[in-house]
Amino acid sequence: MKNQLSKGKIDTYSLSLKYRQASVDLENRKILITNFQGTEQEKDFKESANCNGFGRIRHFEISGSNSWPENPLPIEPARKALRLPPTSTLRAQVFQNAVCNWRCWYCYVPFDLLSANQKHSRWLSASELVELYLKQVNPPPMIDLSGGQPDLIPEWVPWMMYELISRGLENKVFLWSDDNLSNDYFWKYLKKSDIELIRTYKNYGRVGCFKGFDEISFSFNTMANPNLFYNQFELMKKFLSLGIDLYAYVTLTSPTDEDIDSKICSFVDKLQELDHYFPLRTIPLEIRVFTPVRSRIDNFSSKAIKNQILAVNIWQREIKSRFSDKERSIPIYEVPVGVAC
Ligand code: SF4
Repeated sequence: MKNQLSKGKIDTYSLSLKYRQASVDLENRKILITNFQGTEQEKDFKESANCNGFGRIRHFEISGSNSWPENPLPIEPARKALRLPPTSTLRAQVFQNAVCNWRCWYCYVPFDLLSANQKHSRWLSASELVELYLKQVNPPPMIDLSGGQPDLIPEWVPWMMYELISRGLENKVFLWSDDNLSNDYFWKYLKKSDIELIRTYKNYGRVGCFKGFDEISFSFNTMANPNLFYNQFELMKKFLSLGIDLYAYVTLTSPTDEDIDSKICSFVDKLQELDHYFPLRTIPLEIRVFTPVRSRIDNFSSKAIKNQILAVNIWQREIKSRFSDKERSIPIYEVPVGVAC
């Protein structure tokens, strides 16, 4: 099984470069943004796409399904930053860039919206996105830069920050961005001044997603080379050194439950090598079958959906055994990171 599942059909390096070139207009500071109207993804929305089709409202919820742990992201960091009252749900304005360098079988985005498909996307600037966001009645307190893989265009985050500052919105809107931990473009393409802005911008939170808990699950999930599993930790380590408000997700889907106990333990060890407390800033994401996923399900992915329950139980046991009740009750945004043990 290992050989079969670990081929890594995607050349992440080439595809990242190709999709970056196809989705950023550096001269005009524009990004290829998905328009949801008429797409398969739209079928899963609780409410229609907004912002002329380029946005959607996402209702984040802390509670998980029956057996799944709660997910305070990004609600708690946003609530704390904006000094909002306690809440278990929060609306966010989501914008989605039109490219991703990986092809996770469980992705709720149809693959044809991840390949710079001009039929379902347009070139928009940060100014145009913020303009669309402000035009709606009752804009949500949070903007979520999602994907696709937003970090193929790391400029997107500082461009949005500059725009929010220029409109005096930097203290009123919380900015959140996702990253699939696949490339070093943040360090390669951003100017020092952009990195400094990100480092010091008050109302910004960032989440990196670990796509699996070992090489097999990672490669199975993403179709990328299994060695890139370890690259995710290297990238996260660099982001931790920035001192920004940083979190992680992990998807616990694997086609095999062989040695799953020791593999999850080893994964938590690796997180603690980054920072002793980093597991407390890491949230397991439950994989659910959205419309675009149905046609991708096979025997392996069916098994993986079942195995994630086994894996999350081990995850919870490990968290409980490694951290005291007091440590586990620290709000996620107050979990201290940056002091390696
Ligand atoms: S990295 Fe994210 S956007 Fe890309 S295919 Fe995987 S789940 Fe979808």
